[in-house]
Amino acid sequence: MCGHTYHRNKIVKAQNKVYWRCEDRDCGAYIHTTLSNVYLSNNETPHIHEPNMDDVFIQQFKAQVIKRVRSELVTPGVIHSEELAKANMSPSAMANLPIAQSMRKSML
Ligand SMILES: [Zn+2]
Repeated sequence: MCGHTYHRNKIVKAQNKVYWRCEDRDCGAYIHTTLSNVYLSNNETPHIHEPNMDDVFIQQFKAQVIKRVRSELVTPGVIHSEELAKANMSPSAMANLPIAQSMRKSML
């Protein structure tokens, strides 16, 4: 979310609540969601580090590819490379990008 990655910390089924903590263990930022991943609140502790813009970019890229795969009759591989050609991506984001093959699995 917003360039920050959270790890699931605790699930409280009775409250329909999931506690997520920032992947940076030195960082005290938490968020709460429902069990179905609907954002509820955060603990208002700011992150002690910058968001990872590569992550933001990769999330957007994935969302765009998945959206097109669902609405167009083009194979995921084609869409993936078309979007890659359009994207003005930093080399580090590019290096972390999921390949079409692995994305296909997550889309099925
Ligand atoms: Zn953080």
